[in-house]
Amino acid sequence: MTIDIKIEKTTSPKAKPATEGLVFGSKFTDHMFILDYDHGQGWHDPRIVPYQNISMDPAAKVFHYGQTIFEGLKAYLTEDGRILMFRPTKNIERLNLSNERLSIPEIDPELALEALRQLVLIDKEWIPEGEGTSLYIRPFVIATEAALGVAPSLQYKFMIILSPVAAYYAEGINPVKIYVESKYVRAVPGGVGMAKTAGNYAAGLKAQEGATELGYSQVLWLDGVHRKYIEEVGSMNVFFKIDGTVVTPALNGSILHGITRDSIIQLLKHWDIPVEERQLSIDELEEAARSGKLEEAFGTGTAAVISPIGELNWQGEKLIINEGKTGELSAKLYETLTGIQKGAVEDPFSWALEVK
Ligand SMILES: *Cc1c(COP(=O)(O)O)cnc(C)c1O
Repeated sequence: MTIDIKIEKTTSPKAKPATEGLVFGSKFTDHMFILDYDHGQGWHDPRIVPYQNISMDPAAKVFHYGQTIFEGLKAYLTEDGRILMFRPTKNIERLNLSNERLSIPEIDPELALEALRQLVLIDKEWIPEGEGTSLYIRPFVIATEAALGVAPSLQYKFMIILSPVAAYYAEGINPVKIYVESKYVRAVPGGVGMAKTAGNYAAGLKAQEGATELGYSQVLWLDGVHRKYIEEVGSMNVFFKIDGTVVTPALNGSILHGITRDSIIQLLKHWDIPVEERQLSIDELEEAARSGKLEEAFGTGTAAVISPIGELNWQGEKLIINEGKTGELSAKLYETLTGIQKGAVEDPFSWALEVK
């Protein structure tokens, strides 16, 4: 199969920002990818065009009913000048998982991968050099049909934009303080928690604001039914090392299927470190912290890779983890995963895909 993506290059390239001090997701490259969908015709007209505003009817369904999904992944420049993407086919798989849940038509995975490849290559000069930097890739789908009726849209746009990002940890990897949320919930079984869809994030802002006011950087979500079982942290999956075993909540329909999460589980198994995917209650965690068995905790996601947790606030009680310092295993996982992503250490799972 040949995939023909039309290319219109910019005639006025932008100045590239200095990566130092660059705020995440604030600058975008010179080009973007667009693919249209029309009912009866399917997905059509893949193209790369200069980065620009898009024009939509105010009645476009995405504005009213939130029929939209997104992805997030990164491209990296290696020391020897190659370009790598980290497990992009997993992101495309999840893109279609989210599409399916939101009644959005499936996108050909080969076309999506080819779009990522060509867009990253066209804007490859935008991939920052230097420790910890990368090009963040944001694919997304929006419902564009202009009609105020609650039904799946008959028109969509799939787009990809790119944003150069600075090192996540400018001064080394530092533990964060997390607030265990007991008033609000993020998702319930049968809902859209496992889809990367806008509403999940809008619904989480209120809790996030409350946590920020109290000096915490993110919230830890408990399950929406029992308000008891741990789900995830902000927009990261979460892991706890309890008495030598690494425990992460099992995927239950309301937890996002993190690709970093999956990579961490595979690495731990590869290293023969016991890892369990299971239900974990906040009571069990509190008990483990009290008895000194909670050795490490960390969140995982594309943006930060590993984010160590130094403190959990559960109903006013402060559970300090590893004296508030980054644990040995957290640091080792961070070094290994970022090393694989940057092509600096052996990649036993062939996770890095060279873009050329
Ligand atoms: C994107 C995301 C994650 C992390 O997924 P990765 O594939 O590891 O980046 C975890 N939780 C939520 C809610 C997310 O949106």
